[in-house]
Amino acid sequence: MRFLIRRCPKCGRYTLKNTCPVCGTPTRVAHPPRFSPLDKYVKYRVLMKRLSKERP
Ligand SMILES: [Zn+2]
Repeated sequence: MRFLIRRCPKCGRYTLKNTCPVCGTPTRVAHPPRFSPLDKYVKYRVLMKRLSKERP
């Protein structure tokens, strides 16, 4: 399951609702899905480490 933490751009309050419970402003997703590129880099890094270890 993915977390959909939203944030009010007006008062900065975090919520799970589409509108801010405080001021009623439409909220935005606090953490856009940018994890896949990072995961790729981590995978590459691990792979490189493994390769450099296996090489004589
Ligand atoms: Zn608000």
